Amino acid sequence: MASYDFRCTSCDHIFTHDLPMRDLGRVPVTCPDCGSDKVERVFTPFYAKTIRKS
Ligand SMILES: [Zn+2]
Repeated sequence: MASYDFRCTSCDHIFTHDLPMRDLGRVPVTCPDCGSDKVERVFTPFYAKTIRKS
């Protein structure tokens, strides 16, 4: 498993999603906040560390 950071383009929520590397881009990732699947990868690891885990 690896952690990937995503940003929801609907509500701007940043979240971390754990999934096997082979599933990246193959399984749908949805926003835990609004349920939208309109999410994009965030490539700034330091950014996610400022977001508190819920
Ligand atoms: Zn959202």
